[in-house]
Amino acid sequence: KPLFETLSGKLSGVFDGLAKRGTLSEADVTEAMREVRLAMLDADVALPVVKDFVNKVRERAVGHEVLDSISPGQAVAKVVNDALIDALGGAGAVPLNLSAVPPVPILMVGLQGSGKTTTSGKIALRLATRERRKVLLASLDTQRPAAQLQLQQLAERAGVASLPIIAGQSPVEIARRAMDVGRREGYDIVILDTAGRLSIDEALMDEVRAIRAETQPAETLLVVDAMTGQDAVNTAKAFNEAVGVTGVVMTRMDGDARGGAALSMRAITGAPIKLTGSGEKLDALEEFHPERVAGRILG
Ligand code: GDP
Repeated sequence: KPLFETLSGKLSGVFDGLAKRGTLSEADVTEAMREVRLAMLDADVALPVVKDFVNKVRERAVGHEVLDSISPGQAVAKVVNDALIDALGGAGAVPLNLSAVPPVPILMVGLQGSGKTTTSGKIALRLATRERRKVLLASLDTQRPAAQLQLQQLAERAGVASLPIIAGQSPVEIARRAMDVGRREGYDIVILDTAGRLSIDEALMDEVRAIRAETQPAETLLVVDAMTGQDAVNTAKAFNEAVGVTGVVMTRMDGDARGGAALSMRAITGAPIKLTGSGEKLDALEEFHPERVAGRILG
């Protein structure tokens, strides 16, 4: 199944058409770019990102080497492929930065329902099994009574430790205790799952800033739901401006997300997508490889 079906179908259509032709004129490229523009807007890619993308492709594609080449349609498709990779963050996956002195704090932020807690469990499982790290999970969510229990159960499923729950502590106090336990008991990684809200508010951002100041995380990972399209981009922009984000995790890539958020994220936040979630199971977490994603979009 192609990734981002709508976008993929439309783009492949445009380039299949071009590839069949023996020669291409500048007008053909312009016409194709009009279709690419529409396809991207339709897939919820942010407007400035679409404009930049189309301009870049047009500039590179009308060069003589491309239009005079033996198969100009394929040459244009290559230019588009390269521009897609750029938009997605450049070639190669960007790994989590775990190079700080252990216990390395990873701060998880995002709106409620984005998949933040599930993703915390997924990352814990991955680091524990693939990298043999000793991981401690801690929920700093004092808003929802069930949140800390949910994370505890997730930790059990992932086979990693979770911070014992002490009622009445503030998020910053829990974070401090998690780091203390982490140091005392020799953990490599402490994953701090912050509270989410239904919408972005100052209280949430203040809380995240206070936790950041307390723990100095090596990574502040923003979890966003790919299905929310343009809203995901706005959420990312707001979080990045308020607290600074070092990486993005896009969840629900298993749904029929229209792809716009993934294509806009790098340009709008400057932070790379580091991981993606593709299901509810704890092993449904993948590294984000822009070149593979571009390949799957172009089919
Ligand atoms: P939080 O409020 O941000 O902590 O969100 P949760 O982690 O509780 O997730 C909310 C719901 O989304 C749960 O039912 C998860 O199982 C589900 N979920 C999380 N990540 C994914 C994903 O990548 N794909 C799918 N299909 N569901 C997910």
